[in-house]
Amino acid sequence: MDESNPKSGSIIIADDDPSILLLLRHTLTADNYDVTEARSGMEAIELCREFNYDLGIFDLVMPDVDGITACKEIIRQVSNPPPILIITSLDDDDSVNNAFNAGAVDYITKPINWSVFKQRVKRIVEAEKNRQMVKRLEFHDTLTGLPNRTLLLDRLESATLRAQRNKTMLALLMVDIDNLKLINKTLGHDKGDKVITSVARRLSNSIRATDTLSRTGGDEFILIIENIQHLDDIALMAAKFSRTIEHRMTILHQDIHVKASIGISVYPQDGLDIGSLLSNSDAALYRAKEKGGNIYEFYSPEFGKQARRRLELESNLRHALENNQLVMYYQPKINLTTGIANGMEALVRWNHPEQGIIPPDEFIPIAEETGLIIQLGAQVIDKSCEQFKKWQDENIPVTNISINVSGRQFKEQDLVSLLKETLDKYQLDASHIELELTESTLLKNETQAESILNELHNMGIIISIDDFGTGYASLSNLKKLPIDILKIDKSFTDGILHDPDDIAILDAIYGLARGLGLKLVAEGIETLEQLEKIKELGVDYGQGYLWSPPRASDEYLEVLNNLNNS
Ligand code: C2E
Ligand code: CA
Ligand code: CA
Repeated sequence: MDESNPKSGSIIIADDDPSILLLLRHTLTADNYDVTEARSGMEAIELCREFNYDLGIFDLVMPDVDGITACKEIIRQVSNPPPILIITSLDDDDSVNNAFNAGAVDYITKPINWSVFKQRVKRIVEAEKNRQMVKRLEFHDTLTGLPNRTLLLDRLESATLRAQRNKTMLALLMVDIDNLKLINKTLGHDKGDKVITSVARRLSNSIRATDTLSRTGGDEFILIIENIQHLDDIALMAAKFSRTIEHRMTILHQDIHVKASIGISVYPQDGLDIGSLLSNSDAALYRAKEKGGNIYEFYSPEFGKQARRRLELESNLRHALENNQLVMYYQPKINLTTGIANGMEALVRWNHPEQGIIPPDEFIPIAEETGLIIQLGAQVIDKSCEQFKKWQDENIPVTNISINVSGRQFKEQDLVSLLKETLDKYQLDASHIELELTESTLLKNETQAESILNELHNMGIIISIDDFGTGYASLSNLKKLPIDILKIDKSFTDGILHDPDDIAILDAIYGLARGLGLKLVAEGIETLEQLEKIKELGVDYGQGYLWSPPRASDEYLEVLNNLNNS
């Protein structure tokens, strides 16, 4: 909007006659109103449900829903309805009475006398704006300008209805400044007010436009957060609010440590109506205070525990990345024709100082969700290439290394540059490097996938599809992409001895691979029987505990020695 020329108001006009709409719009925009058009009564009702207007101007006669019905419905359905002016060509008493009875503020007759019309619109919009201002004062806290308790209850009511309709979660956060009473007592109320406004400002700056922040008491704020997908998100937000609020202020040469406690209740788990949500967040707040303040508590203890464990893991993982706690394990890949093991897959582990080796299934998903996967993935690529180079220099018989790449990495990391730099750093030939991507990674990023894969492939990097057969990649997709290897999912290896379906699918995969000139790898081979069957099907490479589980680098050398000398 043009700041130097603020709009006189926003008006919705409804008429089924386009020429009248045009005239109305023309006249109103000339007076600098923001105009929205509706072609029917129904459309006008829907728009008023969705948006706020300062005035509605409706034609009396419209084919579907007439102006009077629209007016009635809007007043009935909308919590803050605009005043409505009815245009009528029939200035008989009946229709005028009907308009007023429906709640219209005024009427105007056709043919329209435009100067009368303009005057009337101006008067109604100004009155409406005054009414809104009074209402603002009634529903807002004067110190902070935030919604007050009355408005909060109203918003909470509609928010729970929305959550019920959309089947989403909603969180109610009750925020209480920890030491405000003491500040008021020792420094005076005007200094206490400074603390309150500073907290209000900090909170307002860190919420989304769709959240409601209200001041509901002396030292109490309540936040409604809608559209929540995961409980973890609530904990993340609560932690963020705590950090945002916590600060030091100097008042009258006194250093004041401002901090707050937060009690959280969640719809629908902790209550279906606003009464129980409010009292449960209050109970949670009480517990937070009892624990000494400056923390958040969920009403349901399990939520708290679950969320805290996740957050702890996340912050530990961050720490692990910074402190070089990731190590790579290697699992041999065996050429089933020659029996020689000269390929390997690099699999990451977290060497936790207290908990020991943590498997990737426990931290890769969190790394994915939090975006730490970008940093993690870069470390995996660097460590794997460094080790591979070292073994090549020592003439250890390793000819290629496969590195796992996850979805978000593929999407957000500049893999092409990262790999170019790393290959350069360790003086490695791209043709020795294999990247393992899952079908779902490719399907989710279909448009990008083709060009990224082409670039990687043109560099000479080998592209392998991991867990193949589980993600329903369509054959036509595969044909477009520069893929070299299909890695058959372990579930097929598991079923190969007993499940005729698995054998049939493997047979089909074999046909597909040959048709497209791809190599096949079977993973998770644990027994000689499985190996025999897999060989029969014509698979090129095998991987699994039959030869060795993934091992740390020093142990891996022993594994290689045993395998290649037996
Ligand atoms: P994946 O890529 O499908 O890796 C194969 C997993 O199967 C490995 O588990 C491996 O230890 C296990 N495995 C291999 N042979 C056998 C066998 O004969 N029997 C059984 N029961 N299991 C076998 P791991 O190392 O725990 O890795 C799990 C998953 O974590 C990997 O599945 C991969 O999706 C992910 N991952 C591991 N390392 C990385 C990494 O560096 N980056 C990314 N993005 N993901 C990784
Ligand atoms: Ca893999
Ligand atoms: Ca796999």
